[in-house]
Amino acid sequence: MPIFVPFLTGAKELSIDLAEPVVILRGTAADDTKHVLQGEVSLVLTRPISVSEVNIKFVGKSYSLWPEGLGHKSNKLYHKKTIHTQSIILENFNEHTKKEGVLSAGIHRWPFQFILSNALAETIEDEMAKVFYYLTTTVHRTGKGTTKLQARQDVLILRLPNWSDTALTANSLPSSSIISDRRLEVCDAIICIEKSYVSSGTQFPIAFTISPNMKNTFIESISVLLTEKRKYKLPEFNARRIEQHDFKLSLTSFTSLLADSELTTTQAFYAQPTLRDMRRLLNVKNAHMPLDQGAFRHRLLFTLPNCVQLNHTSTYSEISIKHTLRIQIELSSPTASHRNLDPHKPPQDTVYTKVHLETPITILDCRLKEDYNTLPTYEETLLVSSLIDDDIAESKPSGFFMCPCYLEYRKKTKCSRRDWIKIRDQFSVFNDSTPPPSYESLQ
Ligand SMILES: [Zn+2]
Repeated sequence: MPIFVPFLTGAKELSIDLAEPVVILRGTAADDTKHVLQGEVSLVLTRPISVSEVNIKFVGKSYSLWPEGLGHKSNKLYHKKTIHTQSIILENFNEHTKKEGVLSAGIHRWPFQFILSNALAETIEDEMAKVFYYLTTTVHRTGKGTTKLQARQDVLILRLPNWSDTALTANSLPSSSIISDRRLEVCDAIICIEKSYVSSGTQFPIAFTISPNMKNTFIESISVLLTEKRKYKLPEFNARRIEQHDFKLSLTSFTSLLADSELTTTQAFYAQPTLRDMRRLLNVKNAHMPLDQGAFRHRLLFTLPNCVQLNHTSTYSEISIKHTLRIQIELSSPTASHRNLDPHKPPQDTVYTKVHLETPITILDCRLKEDYNTLPTYEETLLVSSLIDDDIAESKPSGFFMCPCYLEYRKKTKCSRRDWIKIRDQFSVFNDSTPPPSYESLQ
């Protein structure tokens, strides 16, 4: 007799439905926060089966590639291991009846809840090493020639630093700026990195105020470099590898930080730099931008590399990924002639001064994007519309690179929430012992 399944999509007889397919860890591994991963295992049977146990496992694994080889003969090129397991027995028939139980035809449901530690390593999807999590449920059958039933569901574990519930409800990510204030003979320089937690593929603003302290001072170059350092370790094989990748940040746009009144008074004799001038300053060593007409006060909007090139910062000791931002400003100024006391030395016309700032920053997983950034560029809009389906496009946030993983994530969390609500609703109907609707009633 066929049974009518009103709300399960697909033909799977055993499935795991999650309230949320993602767990967001907060702060560092040392923070004692707990997280809930909950859902329901459903089994649809067209005929009764004998079973001994139904269980669910939450498993974390790491996988790393070692092209140089592992082990004595260096002939092992990869290593996979389990780094975390938690399991729950949903129903054990042996325990109660000392023999196998029978699950009748129809729908069976087992709700489950795992309490997860904040110390879990987050999901890592680096090209050379990965950490991934999944749930697997097993229905152990009894009787000759039977095979166990199994279903699997992937779980994403992401991490946010210093997160607060207020930020969560305000739909914005935590932000902390880094300000460096230098007083030098040639100039005073203030560099403000507006956010030190940022997702790959998003816009990244840095404000510069460079006020000259002497005449004929020029900015020769500004360099903004993001470094990703990856350390892979496998203690059991005594293996270790370090890689470093440098990314020069590309400039998207910039705005002047001068007040309107300052602009009108100086505009007559001081032309504001164009985007071309600014790109030249960032890309050549001797852009020679004069400061004689006033301070350089601009907010430069950079775009971070997207998740295809950049990983998120990790906290897992065996796949450690850290990010550093390096800013260097080079200035030139004339040497005061009276300081050149040595008559045998040729007169030195120009001195070069470097302002250097190096700071760690946290790159968040590309799925943790905030949507209060500026509007996307025309190219971004074109890219997005070709990738995205209408359903998501309606509510799409803007101002960053929509990577496929982010779109997939949005779709998945949306569907999962929708399915979960449906299932909960249906389940409460079942609890009231109302039978599912008949074929006739639907026609
Ligand atoms: Zn991505």
